[in-house]
Amino acid sequence: MKHFDVMISEQEIDNKVEEVAAKISSDFEGESVVVIGVLTGAFIFTADLVRSLTVPVETVDFVQVSSYEGDKSTGKLVFKKDISTDIEGKNVLIVEDIIDTGRTLKQLKQMFLERNPKSIKICTAFDKPSRRVTDLVPDYNCFTIPDKFIVGYGLDYDGKYRDYKDVRIVRTDDE
Ligand code: 5GP
Ligand code: MG
Repeated sequence: MKHFDVMISEQEIDNKVEEVAAKISSDFEGESVVVIGVLTGAFIFTADLVRSLTVPVETVDFVQVSSYEGDKSTGKLVFKKDISTDIEGKNVLIVEDIIDTGRTLKQLKQMFLERNPKSIKICTAFDKPSRRVTDLVPDYNCFTIPDKFIVGYGLDYDGKYRDYKDVRIVRTDDE
């Protein structure tokens, strides 16, 4: 049987998102940003974050990617849905739900860099640095978490539980 143990409460998330949004707003003072959320997991965090930013948001767009497992785990990233925004000369803020190995964002950042934006920053709701196999470091992170599988606040298990307002660790009986 599976259990869902609350790890981070709705209130803690709200407070931290406000804090991170304030930091981003102050870092981008006098500038504007194009916010790009990574579907599907980041849809809730993106919605919360943009409403807390005080810096002008030029537009909000979404990208969906999947890694093509040609051989082993060195999957090449492909767009399932590309953005429809021209990011040349723009300050881009990529918003992700969680960074695990870092493979997804490492490649995505590289792909967007080829479009000559003014800058690219990465903001993630959750970070699992112990799982990293790349040198990817987020510019903004709400919560550093241990190597546990979490759901809620946009994150799923088999497509479910994205609607939970808090974040829960999925645990089976023997753990
Ligand atoms: P990576 O950084 O390894 O390229 O991939 C990160 C992606 O793996 C996330 O966007 C998410 O889809 C998935 N992922 C990693 N850890 C978790 C987790 O604890 N819970 C959920 N629901 N997805 C995760
Ligand atoms: Mg994801």
